[in-house]
Amino acid sequence: MTSTDATTDATTDAPKDALAEYHRRRDFSRTAEPKGADDGAEARWPVFVVQIHEATAMHFDFRLEVGGVLKSWAVPKGPSTDPHDKRLAMPTEDHPLEYREFEGVIAAGEYGGGTVIVWDEGTYRNISTDRSGAEVDFGTALERGHASFWLDGRKLHGGYSLTRIRDTRGEREAWLLVKRADERASGAGTPDPHRARSARTGHTLRQVAAEAAGGGG
Ligand code: MN
Repeated sequence: MTSTDATTDATTDAPKDALAEYHRRRDFSRTAEPKGADDGAEARWPVFVVQIHEATAMHFDFRLEVGGVLKSWAVPKGPSTDPHDKRLAMPTEDHPLEYREFEGVIAAGEYGGGTVIVWDEGTYRNISTDRSGAEVDFGTALERGHASFWLDGRKLHGGYSLTRIRDTRGEREAWLLVKRADERASGAGTPDPHRARSARTGHTLRQVAAEAAGGGG
């Protein structure tokens, strides 16, 4: 791929209604999560973020910047470095780009109530190809249900693929997030989310929750 291709997504403005579902689910007078506005994009690699979210059920939120928003999947077990691990990834609503910086506590009773840390962050490159080996645009690859990308994060590195495994009309889609067999694959798997530390602050979920509770605002 060329660097021009890599910046296309990052410089495309989000459609006006791309975040409608995100906004519908939240009361921004009650949550500190970002409301999301256009961030005057400059030429750069698209970003990714992996947040750990201790909500009703612990999960990882895997987000890739596509078309000016963060395409998002909830990954209950989290991304693995082991190509043998096929990790269920359930699509969730697009999030604003600013969400990649969100770390804190969503109030109990609100949508997604619980603690969030930024576990990993970085940039990615599209490495999606068709059967003939020709490069496929990243958005197109996602629409077709199979997209591959190379992560350059603080923790995650190397090739990963997202593959749609269920596409039944009227039912929720499911995807699999799988590490590709490359030089960055390992048997390390995924760390314990309770012990994992934020890539931004080095804090654990418990520390972030305690700061929110005792910080006096
Ligand atoms: Mn979540």
